[in-house]
Amino acid sequence: MKKNFILSDINNLKGVGPQLTKYLKKKKIEKIKDIILSLPYSETDRSKIYKLKDLQVGKIQTVKVLVKKLNFPRIRNLPNKISCEDETGKIEIVYFNSREGYLRKLFLLNKFVIISGKVSYYNNKYQITNPDYVTSLENQEYVVKNIPKYNLTKGINEKKYRNISEQVIGNLPKIVDWLDEKFIKDNKLLNWNECIKKLHNSKEGQNNQSKSFRRIVFDELCANFLTLSENRKRIRINKSPKKFTNKNSELIKKSLPFKLTNDQETVINEINQDLLSDRRMFRIIQGDVGSGKTIVSILSILNVIKSGYQCALMSPTEILAKQHYTLIKKIFKNENFDIEFLTGKTEYKSRNVILTNLISGKIKLLIGTHALFQKKINFQKLGLVIIDEQHKFGVKQRSELAKKGGNECDVLLMSATPIPRTMMMSIYGDMDISKITEKPSKRKKIITLSKPEKKISELWPFIKKQLLNNNQVFWVCPLIEDSAFLDYSSAKEKFKIIDKIFPNKVGLIHGGLKNEEKDKILKSFLQKKISILVTTTVIEVGIDFPNANLIVIENANKFGLAQLHQLRGRVGRGEKQGTCILLFKDGLSKNAIKRIKVLKNSNDGFFIAEEDLKLRGFGDLIGFQQSGVKSFRFADPVIHEDLFKLAEKYVQNLRGYMDQNKYSFLLKLFDRAEIINTSEL
Ligand code: ADP
Ligand code: MG
Repeated sequence: MKKNFILSDINNLKGVGPQLTKYLKKKKIEKIKDIILSLPYSETDRSKIYKLKDLQVGKIQTVKVLVKKLNFPRIRNLPNKISCEDETGKIEIVYFNSREGYLRKLFLLNKFVIISGKVSYYNNKYQITNPDYVTSLENQEYVVKNIPKYNLTKGINEKKYRNISEQVIGNLPKIVDWLDEKFIKDNKLLNWNECIKKLHNSKEGQNNQSKSFRRIVFDELCANFLTLSENRKRIRINKSPKKFTNKNSELIKKSLPFKLTNDQETVINEINQDLLSDRRMFRIIQGDVGSGKTIVSILSILNVIKSGYQCALMSPTEILAKQHYTLIKKIFKNENFDIEFLTGKTEYKSRNVILTNLISGKIKLLIGTHALFQKKINFQKLGLVIIDEQHKFGVKQRSELAKKGGNECDVLLMSATPIPRTMMMSIYGDMDISKITEKPSKRKKIITLSKPEKKISELWPFIKKQLLNNNQVFWVCPLIEDSAFLDYSSAKEKFKIIDKIFPNKVGLIHGGLKNEEKDKILKSFLQKKISILVTTTVIEVGIDFPNANLIVIENANKFGLAQLHQLRGRVGRGEKQGTCILLFKDGLSKNAIKRIKVLKNSNDGFFIAEEDLKLRGFGDLIGFQQSGVKSFRFADPVIHEDLFKLAEKYVQNLRGYMDQNKYSFLLKLFDRAEIINTSEL
């Protein structure tokens, strides 16, 4: 068998016709390599030959018996029966829908046969109906052993699948391993061929800590990291350096009501270096909620505009885009360049004006939602794209985005979702990472409390006090309206209740509202015309209300840790003490209790992300599932943390030089090649 054969379609195997191809496809087995990657989940033990007197009903067992009599009834629908025996008893082998000629060849009178199948008991006799295997003594090794058990589907039985998988696993090509012997030995891994055989033919495939399992995990991680590293190479191409001095940003800094933190200054420097360099920037700022990423991005926008380019700033929601627009207009009030706002809802006429002024270069900064990336939107000289809160962007989208701006366009992403250290390379391996861990100095730690839902009435006096002190409150519910199926509270119902207690002070906002309505309500909250905002998670991302310092979250156990931390980050952004109250129903799980503890004890998003990973597993890691980064088939950042580090080091040591001959098979094995989309691979 050749390497390329493994990468070809499954129907190239002997015995795999259109019908079987269809069934295998249901199990996501489309290429021959998928057989290699589909590990057995257990084994069927056919290794012991039982005496008939020792048989156990309901189990799959193997017997060696003498064929005594074949019985083929001439009446339709009656089964064919073969009577057999050993020195301890008798057994009947029963066949439905079988052909006489076939059975006569299989069962020779007065000869011994090996039979393996599920034992039953009927009419005082042991029976095996439609046995899995019948074979002569000479061929018994094929049957009398432990046989790997795969996750099969209708239309494929064990024997059929074995025929396919053994063709592949038994004939693996002798490939030159991409890992050298010393590396394999030093890190207690296995060579590739041996690893694959063991994964299929021993219990190692079922043990995610076994040597061979760890080897395939390592391969999967390498494939992933190499892809990102290649992607990075393709993005970090040459560009002309932007030209600006610090003069302009210093003026803006002076006009701010606060001093930047050290982390903010460091990140601004990192970005400036990128802008001034002759390589395209592809950087993400990872900063906890409220760490002050926005101002950092605003200063880079200024620098890029000053060097004669246009900028685009994209936000995931309209509310957030509008907030940026308002803030930036204010900060740039003394600058005389055009700033425009564009969303999918911008009216046709004004949209056309914007399009014209973009292409002529009159507009220097365009702020908006996904609409910024519509086909028709063309810039005269786009120099920087900034995407806010876009941890949910996948690798593929990121590289497409980078293409959009053309070769001169730098790209800056911002995310308020800290990623656990182990996952950093898997998710952002194609980018440079800037971290803001420090919070603005005057910011106080948010106090987090938990309360059973039935004591909700104890909150009213507390809220009353807040309102008297001129503070504002967010009240978060998981649902927009009551649901017949889910026992969660809804924003609409809660609004009615709270509105009765605090008349004329409560607003309601949720994703079901029209944007104009949303804007109106947010405005009245911002202008303190209302004091309590009942909401769904629409407020989760990015919005800044410095005067809000209490957030109540209902059915808090419905949310993940990272998401709760995000929500909590909506308050305590000003200088006043922020409080977060988590409401729960009774009977919390142990896990839920642990999660509350984590939140109560920490305000550090990076720490919380690590804990979230441990408690919920990486399948739930916020943003990861949606990120489009292919989720791992074998690797688990909790169980295989050391291998994540090892693979990271391994790929870093290649220093961006990937020997395609060596690694292309690996990348194709794990379906990574199409992401980087090279013709050579
Ligand atoms: P995020 O990183 O979550 O996007 P923002 O950029 O929205 O956070 O900043 C949160 C709040 O903190 C804003 O009101 C902003 O004006 C303020 N802020 C930013 N940097 C500082 C700083 N160095 N000192 C004090 N307040 C700051
Ligand atoms: Mg933000």
